[in-house]
Formats: sequence, C-alpha cells, structure tokens
Amino acid sequence: MLNENFEKIPASYLFSEVASRVSAYQAAHPDQTLLRMGIGDVTKPLPPVVIQALHAATDEQATAEGFRGYGPEQGYAFLREAISDGEYRVLGVDVPADDIFIGDGAKSDSGNIQELFSPDATIAVADPVYPVYIDSNAMAGRLGDYEDGRWTDLTYLPCTEENGYKPPLPESRVDVIYLCYPNNPTGATLTRDELKVWVDYARENGTVLLFDAAYRSFVSDPSVPRSIYEIEGATEVAIEFGSFSKTAGFTGLRCSWTVVPDELKVEGRSLRAMWNRRQATKFNGTPYVVQKAAAAIYSPEGRVQVQEAVDYYMRNAALIREALVGVGIDVVGGENAPYVWFRCPDGMDSWEFFDLLLNRAQIVGTPGVGFGPSGDGCFRLSAFNDYKNTAEAAKRLRSLLGARSTDASSAGAPATSSTTGEEN
Ligand code: PLP
Repeated sequence: MLNENFEKIPASYLFSEVASRVSAYQAAHPDQTLLRMGIGDVTKPLPPVVIQALHAATDEQATAEGFRGYGPEQGYAFLREAISDGEYRVLGVDVPADDIFIGDGAKSDSGNIQELFSPDATIAVADPVYPVYIDSNAMAGRLGDYEDGRWTDLTYLPCTEENGYKPPLPESRVDVIYLCYPNNPTGATLTRDELKVWVDYARENGTVLLFDAAYRSFVSDPSVPRSIYEIEGATEVAIEFGSFSKTAGFTGLRCSWTVVPDELKVEGRSLRAMWNRRQATKFNGTPYVVQKAAAAIYSPEGRVQVQEAVDYYMRNAALIREALVGVGIDVVGGENAPYVWFRCPDGMDSWEFFDLLLNRAQIVGTPGVGFGPSGDGCFRLSAFNDYKNTAEAAKRLRSLLGARSTDASSAGAPATSSTTGEEN
C-alpha cells in the first residue's frame, strides 16, 4: 500500500551527525564561540528594493482593484519577462518568457522534474552531489537498491582531485544527466568549452540535461557560463533551474524559475507541454507579492543591491580560499562560487578533519562524504557568513593548518588565535 522506495532511502546522516557532534562539543565547552562555516543559507537580510516591493504589493492586496487571488500557474508575465530580459538577454541569449515557469524553489522544481521521465529512465549525477537529484529519483523507484553507500541503478560521475572535480562523460549512454554549475558542494565551475562537451554529448545521444544554475549570480569570470543556453544547441537538450535564493536572499521568501525550451523534444514530444501540464495540475503558483519582490531585483537599484550582497559573500570566499591556499592546500571553488572544497590534509577522512576543525579551531564545516562516495576525504567550507566571522575563521585555519605544514608533528595543535569575542 505504501511506496516502498521511501524505505530504501538512507536517513540524512550528514546534518544530524554534524548537529550532534556540535552540540556535544558545546555542552563540554560552553564558553567557546563556534564559527559556523557549513552554512548553505544566506546570512544577509533582503535587499531594500525587495522589502519595498513586498510592502507595495501587500498594500495592493487591501484594495478591490489590487487584490490578487489565484495567479497563472506558470507565473505572472511581468516576472517571466523580467527574467527573460534580466537573466538571459543580458547574456546575449534568447530565452522567451513563454519557456520560463516561475516556481517556489529550485529544490521543488529540480525534485519534481523527474516526473516527466519514465520509471525506467537511466539517470547520471556528478558525484559529490546536491542530494535532491538522487533522492527524488529514488522515491520514484528509478535507482534500484542502496547498497554500500551507492544506488545500484544510478550512474555516478566521480569528481575527484585528479579530474579537477569535473565529471567525466558517462561510460554508457544515459537518458538524463543532472549538472549543477557553479557546483554545490564543490564550488567547481565549467568553462564554456567544457560545458559544450556535455551539450554535444546530449545532442548525439538523445540525453536530456538538467542544469541547476542556482549559483549563477556568483560567476564573475567571463569564460564561465551563467546559463547552459550560452552553449549553441542547448535549447534542444537542456532544462535549466534558476533561483532567487542565493542571488537575492530569497531562501525564506521562496521564488525560482525553470526554463523548458520549446525546442526541447524527446521522442517527438514537447517537454514544455508536459511540464506545463504537470504544473497546472499540481501547482497553484508562487505568491503575487513574492513575484513582485523578485521582479524588483531587475531595477537599476535592485541590480546594484544584489551585486553588493554577492560581492560581500565573494569577499568571504576569497578569505577562506587564501587561508587554505596559503597553508598549501589545493582548493576548488571560492571563485565564481560561494563554496570552497578541498581534500582533507594529511590523509584525514572527512569526519576526522571535521573533528580537528571543531576541537582545535572551533570551526564547523561540512564533511564532503555526506554528498556522495566521491566526497569521501573532502571538505566544504561556505562563504555564507558574516565578514568578521569569516576573517576570524581564516585566521584560525592559517594558525591550525599552517602549524601543520611547517611542523608535521604539531598536527592537531590548538589554534592560537582568540576564540572569544566573535560578532555575528
Ligand atoms: N540547487 C542547489 C544546487 C542548491 O544548493 C540549493 C540550495 O542550497 C537549491 C537548488 C535550492 O534552491 P531553492 O532555495 O531555490 O529551493
């Protein structure tokens, strides 16, 4: 009677284990201030233009003329057009408003999109991975069984230090590939030429690419594409997810978009028509006030305010990167992405390094092994934080890991920097 596939999905051990180690440490050391560098949520308040738009749209709801009930399931035209213009035309890419569907989060849409594919569609993910892509397919019964930390019917594309954390093409043909660039958790990016390899593969193999661009606003390098549609032919093979969460602080407000191009046809059928049908059946739209708030980021002041927040986080990212590189650790991310990823020093596994940072530097990060088998032995630090906390964390990282690189025998020595007086 129940969907047995839910039983197969392992509990999310990562975040509960992090929480339990952190609370045990805090109970034993109540005077220590922890620096939380594992945060995947924004830390700055919403930009002023967003707040103003929320107020104005809320006031409209108090009038007979301005009141809005159900809106279009696909989203209001004003926001779809603002995205077509403000996210795509600026890149020289034509993504018409009709191909854009407004949602309540890239998590929901990237989790729901698998409904368009048959129960036996073959799936590949870059590993380590944002877990939603896997778990949503596991719930649909597409991945076989979970054995020894892997799904038997899922193709893992390992991203390792050796390949620069860039996934190889699948060895045998798959129907659907999830790609996320800039990447969570690794912060790696693909150049235009590297992304073209995937688009060409998809065109040759009749594969659909599901491209998660939730972190696109962190890209500043012109050689790194913000959208897969910057690659010729991508509209024939790719669906793209965008989000206001990290771009504009909407993690609590909730607004996103999904592009399903009219040109994307599989077995002669239109995926746009299918997604439209799916949304019209199961979704009643993102709130009007939230869509107005999202559209406000494309005003001239909105653009400036959003960029300021991105720059703030990227200044944090640079601090973390420099601290690690300065003590001889090779990292990816932290450039064009708010996450920094690296192999744990001295052959430590992800949890040993987690404990070292917690106990010796009072820093909480995220063990890479929680994101998939190829994350084993790796670690993620996040730039979503207060600048002062990040600067303090960078100082502690240098102190703890620098001592290790000059004198291996002192690995694990306590950080010398102050552990009190942090501001939030
Ligand atoms: N996609 C990736 C890769 C993410 O890391 C996240 C959130 O951390 C999301 C999607 C979720 O975005 P949203 O807040 O729009 O649901």
